[in-house]
Parts: sequence; structure tokens; C-alpha cells
Amino acid sequence: MKERAVLTPELFRKLLDWYEENKRVLPWREDADPYHVWISEIMLQQTRVETVKAYYLRWMERFPTVSALAAAEEDEVLKAWEGLGYYSRARNLHKAAKIIENAYGGKLPADKALLRGLPGVGEYTAGAILSIAFGIGEPAVDGNVLRVISRLTADPSDVSKGEVRAALADALRPLMPKGETSAFTQALFELGALICLPKDAFRCELCPLVEDCRAYKEGRQGDFPVKPEKAAPRAEARTVLLLECEGKYLVRKRPSKGLLANLYEFPNAEGKLSEGDVCAFLSDLAGEEISPRKVESLPEATHVFTHLVWNMTGYLVRLSSPKAASLFGADAVFASPREIKETYSLPSAFSAYKKFAR
Ligand code: SF4
Repeated sequence: MKERAVLTPELFRKLLDWYEENKRVLPWREDADPYHVWISEIMLQQTRVETVKAYYLRWMERFPTVSALAAAEEDEVLKAWEGLGYYSRARNLHKAAKIIENAYGGKLPADKALLRGLPGVGEYTAGAILSIAFGIGEPAVDGNVLRVISRLTADPSDVSKGEVRAALADALRPLMPKGETSAFTQALFELGALICLPKDAFRCELCPLVEDCRAYKEGRQGDFPVKPEKAAPRAEARTVLLLECEGKYLVRKRPSKGLLANLYEFPNAEGKLSEGDVCAFLSDLAGEEISPRKVESLPEATHVFTHLVWNMTGYLVRLSSPKAASLFGADAVFASPREIKETYSLPSAFSAYKKFAR
């Protein structure tokens, strides 16, 4: 690790003063309730602040406490998460709420080891909850913090390595001022979110730390943080079927493990099927039981997951009998457009086709 002499109490004092003047008004900053901090931190992972605001407010209306979340059905939780992606976050929140309710009387524990024992709570989230909600000097090192600190120190270490993140947390811990741990954590996030932006979007002319920044002095802001190249996501062709009968559309629950687990979907198959292939596929599945009245081609669509890209072809298939539902699994149902909107959680991978279910 490059030496971090640049990280001093004086530097963080400048940062804290800047934060006090410039912090955004955000719904989860209205108080330091541990439940509020926890939910907002999980939502903010991989998701933009502007998107999270509306989800957070709706979530708090629906599940205002840990107890309310613990008592909800999983389908209800997934529905509230619909469109945020990375659904394991929602499943883990639900599982963790049940543990907090049963083991800790509905209150998040102010203890790192206990927090780390909850599903979906890693080093970063534990640090955020402890420092923001409980005033405990535990750093929360996320992508924003890694970017800011690696630029300040011009540190060439590979930030994707766990030991590099742990060493950075160790360097920050003694610098967290007593009574200001919440502002410390949020000031670093805020600088990374508003000023020390990724790639070449840094706004050093507005940065309160510009005089201390080694990357700035060396004109190498864009060289940090150092990370290995990401492998390109694997492309997969899929064909999505909107099976319509009497104004309702067939949706089914996905398996309980793997990609988009337990969410609902329109039936789909691997590969790019032609209209003829679709008819053959349905007839192989059920013979005369689901003879299509009409098959219409829908626009192609793409959805990018972290490691996978779905290149989708779609068809609207009008059926004369609803008997087909049971052929697509025990959870398959014909749902009205309203039920699809309000009850069944369809991930955004199917958004391009959801609008044809009307
Ligand atoms: S001076 Fe520029 S590169 Fe350095 S911390 Fe500030 S915004 Fe980031």
C-alpha cells in the first residue's frame, strides 16, 4: 500500500466543513433511525440516488418498521422492490428482518459481528449502519470512498482486492472523529457522488481537498482507482411469450434459486425462435390443448444483467382456452394487466414486453 500521509485529521475537517455546507436533502437523512439507514444503504447499492428516493418513500409507507417487514409475505417484498434489480437484496432484507424481529426484539444490533451475521449485511453496510445510526467509529468503504481515497493518495493498489479495502478501512478508522462518525461517512460518500466522480468526470475545481490531492497534483485523476478489466457479459438469445387469453396474460413464478429467483415472468425459452418455432414449441408442450388463434411478433429487446445480456425476441400469442396455465407450472396463472401491475413482481428484464400486456 502506498503511504497515506495525506490522510490527516485536518484534511477530514475540511471535508466535514464542506459536507455541512453542501449536503443534499435526502429522505433517509431526516433521522438516524437504524432501520432507515439500513434500508436506504441496501437500496443505494448499485442504484442511483434519484431512483432510490421514490422506492424508499414507498417502502417506508408499506413496511414502516422491522416488524412490518418481517411479517410481510416474500411476494409483497419483491413487488415493492420491482424495478430496482439485484433482487437478492430484497430477499436478504426480508430474511434479516425476521432474524432481527425474533432474535433482537425488532431492533438492529449496534454490534459489528451481529450485524455481519445478518443476510446481505457485509463490511460496508455494517460500517454504514454503525457509523451513521449508532455513532460508532467503523468506516464504510464503498466504491465512492475507494475512488476518493485512492485519488487523494494516488494509490496504485487494486481496489477490487479485499485486503486493499480492509487496509483502507484500517487507515480511516482512527481518523473518524468522535460524535461525527455519521457526517464522516456521509461526507466521503457525498464527495464521491457529487465532486470526485468516476472516470473523467471529476470536478476538482469544486473540490475542498484539491490542495491535498496527489492524483490532482500529478494530473492523474483518471488513473485511479485501479481495478482489473471486467470480462464482457455473456450474451444469450431468449424468446419471450405473452400468452393471452380473454384479456389476461400468463405469468409464472421462476425457480427459488438462481437468476431472478422467485420473481414472476412471462414464459420464455432459450434461443431466438421464429413464429413457426413458437407454434411447434407450444404444440410439443401441449398438443391441441393450447392451439394459438394468432401469433404476432413483438419488438426485440435487450436486458443487461451483471454477467449476462439477454437479447430477446417476443411474440404475443392469443389462445382460445386458459387451460394452458397448468402446463407452465403450479404457480402459473393468467393475470389481468392490473394484477400484473399491482400484484405480481415482474423484473425489469421483462419491461419491454410488459407494456403489451394491456
Ligand atoms: S481533487 Fe479531484 S481527484 Fe482529488 S479528491 Fe478532489 S475531485 Fe477527487
